[in-house]
Amino acid sequence: NGVAERERALIARRERLLGPAYRLFYANPVHLVRGEGVWLYDPDGNPYLDVYNNVASVGHCHPHVVAALARQASVLNTHTRYLGEGILDYAEKLLGYFPPELSHVMFTCTGSEANDLAYRVARSYTGGTGFIVTRLAYHGVTVAISEMSPSLGNGITLGENVRTVPAPDGYRGGPGVAERFAADVRAAIAEMQAAGITPAALLVDTAFTSDGVFTDPAGFLAPAVEAIREAGGLFIADEVQPGFGRTGDAMWGFSRHGLVPDMVTMGKPMGNGHPIAGMVARPEILARFGERTRYFNTFGGNPVSCAVGQAVLEVIESEGLVENARTTGAYLMDGIRRLAGRFEVIGDVRGAGLMVGVELVADRASKAPGTAAAAALVNGLRERRVLISASGPHANVLKIRPPLVFRPEHADHFLAAMEAVLPSLPRG
Ligand code: PMP
Repeated sequence: NGVAERERALIARRERLLGPAYRLFYANPVHLVRGEGVWLYDPDGNPYLDVYNNVASVGHCHPHVVAALARQASVLNTHTRYLGEGILDYAEKLLGYFPPELSHVMFTCTGSEANDLAYRVARSYTGGTGFIVTRLAYHGVTVAISEMSPSLGNGITLGENVRTVPAPDGYRGGPGVAERFAADVRAAIAEMQAAGITPAALLVDTAFTSDGVFTDPAGFLAPAVEAIREAGGLFIADEVQPGFGRTGDAMWGFSRHGLVPDMVTMGKPMGNGHPIAGMVARPEILARFGERTRYFNTFGGNPVSCAVGQAVLEVIESEGLVENARTTGAYLMDGIRRLAGRFEVIGDVRGAGLMVGVELVADRASKAPGTAAAAALVNGLRERRVLISASGPHANVLKIRPPLVFRPEHADHFLAAMEAVLPSLPRG
């Protein structure tokens, strides 16, 4: 299958050492040794265009971030039970990007922990346990959160307190996304209440990334949020994917919907690869939790992580990366739409900024999913050293999510590779 001997040996070693639960990308897995900006390099020095990794959001190994990390790591790294200014400087700067109602921040190491913390806080504030998530949501790895992450597949049994709603899909579902999504949330609330479960929260990735990327029409989330609040529950925006400027119109995906969430969770791009994540909340929601519980996360909010987080924000500002996400994202989507004019397999092009979904179909009229086509395209691009992936219920939605330092010339490189692979795709 085209896998070279050196990589076959590595795969065997991985299986021997890491066991069976890990999955590699691509039929011919990619072996990486170095990254810089939007480029990743294999051991032979071949460059791969990274059109997928939203973690290294300000670019792989950004020198300003690496320098901040090295500087702080050589001076002090402890935890949050001593006084220090770094965590406060970072908290002030980070909270400055949020609406004033969201004025407390707590730090974790992963997005999963941030969601787990939000879950605990929502339970303590509402007295309920019921959570509503989308049908193909992913929110993390802890027991509680994996049980509200149906995208993990058949091995996961959803929690008894969890209800799912269909994704707000304007392509397959047609217009009326806001009303339909709110009606689905209302139905989930009613079903929950009928089972004796008190609603605690609606938890969504505000770009619906693992459901297949749904960002339009802007504002569609508002009626669903009203519904959960009427039922006494909270709205938790999971910004792990869209956060830190990816959608190009603002720092956070929820802004697109004109909403102020009750809690916001974030991670991935927050540290550009360094494990820092967090949860921002309205103070009144945290009050009871804080009175009853001592929160300590050994590594969360440590001085090195805070220095890194601060440096990431500085780069987003100094390099104008939110604006770049908007303009380069629009340029990229225009180019993909031009390809859609020539290739029937492209059923829909959607997204915001540099969070782009491209849905492949076997047939435009029936919208039958182009699952095999998507796999062939993802692997075909990989053979041309261009890295993307696919998601959605039929794994037929290309997930295009490059570092935010992606520029029009990189978009041109990506579009040329797409144009080269598109003619040879299987139907279906
Ligand atoms: N929420 C969303 C929307 C995610 O995409 C992820 C990670 N894929 C998480 C939460 C969990 O983050 P982590 O892997 O840092 O625990």
